[in-house]
Amino acid sequence: MIQQFQVQGAKDKYIIYNKVLGKGAYGVVLLAKSLNLGSYHAAKIISKKSLSLSDISNLRNEINIQSQLNHPNIVSMVEAFEDNEYLYMLLEYCNGGCLFQKTQLNGPLREEKALYYFVQIVKAVQYLHTKSVLHRDIKLSNLLLTSDDQIKVADFTWSTSLQGGYVNPQICGTLEYMPPEVISNKVQNEKLDVWSLGIVLYEILHNSFPIVGSLFFKFGISEECKQLLKQMLENDPNRRPTTSEILYSPCIRRFNRHKDLSINIIACSKNLQDIQGINQKSPQMASPLGSPLRTGFGTPQMNDLGSPLRNRQGSSIGSPFNLGLGSPLGSPLGSPMNSPLANFNKRISTDPIRLSAQKLV
Ligand code: AMP
Repeated sequence: MIQQFQVQGAKDKYIIYNKVLGKGAYGVVLLAKSLNLGSYHAAKIISKKSLSLSDISNLRNEINIQSQLNHPNIVSMVEAFEDNEYLYMLLEYCNGGCLFQKTQLNGPLREEKALYYFVQIVKAVQYLHTKSVLHRDIKLSNLLLTSDDQIKVADFTWSTSLQGGYVNPQICGTLEYMPPEVISNKVQNEKLDVWSLGIVLYEILHNSFPIVGSLFFKFGISEECKQLLKQMLENDPNRRPTTSEILYSPCIRRFNRHKDLSINIIACSKNLQDIQGINQKSPQMASPLGSPLRTGFGTPQMNDLGSPLRNRQGSSIGSPFNLGLGSPLGSPLGSPMNSPLANFNKRISTDPIRLSAQKLV
């Protein structure tokens, strides 16, 4: 890994490496390391040259909102600062890729595994909603994974705060995940995120977007899960469940019961092994064949279905932003990424009205 340069923040100095983690609407995300702590981070680096006033307002908003969040399933921001040319956001590093890559590589997920991720995503969005924050761009490429397979919701570019239970109507986010009230620029509230959650759950189960109005379900999806998907993808936002209702739905309660049961079986198996360990004095326990208990209990399997790579490309709409980052770092930043994922997450916005934040950092 080649060290490119160092930047000084308010809390620490960071080494920025020549390792691109991804590319967003405003700039690139590179691997960084804290000089004092030695911890790794993701550094979102944005060239100020290419930004319009509304872009700057969006970024201030993103930084302001993200700095106030603290949840185990949301990417935390360490600090944000700027120099003459660039704005830097130092974020918690998620080194497990994102859900989009995961489904690209492994194919559609089994219901159990899909719900394992989904519950974490809903908990993060529930937390945002209790703080009157809407994410407005929930999609697979914004759902990052840690090395221990935990979800971290990222990218608060389009986040906004509810005022009196509603937000100013604005067409923003990613088309495939946009609810009807956003596309038609009607009254919008926190239920717009619930629609996107429905698209996400459907997508990780099927590896395709739903045809809303005539939902097709693959074989093996439980009735409770189908029911939940239909409710989240209701055209009328008032008929969609809240995040708390989703977590209390028959589908999620059933998932939690199965999870508790699996944990109990593992605990039970461990207890039995411990008891046998106490009886270890008995010579047969020292048998090279080992105890049947040690081999008889399988850990519950939550493997994904193996499947060929999908070819689906999100039909994306051109971003209004200048994606170029005139970088002093040379080609890795300046040149377009060759990744097949590079074009997937472009977003649109037709209304530049945004909440402006008081300060940048
Ligand atoms: P964004 O600008 O937030 O849309 O991020 C663009 C891409 O950078 C994402 O799709 C990820 O691939 C990558 N990325 C963003 N944040 C992180 C992070 N905290 N850890 C690892 N990769 C990240």
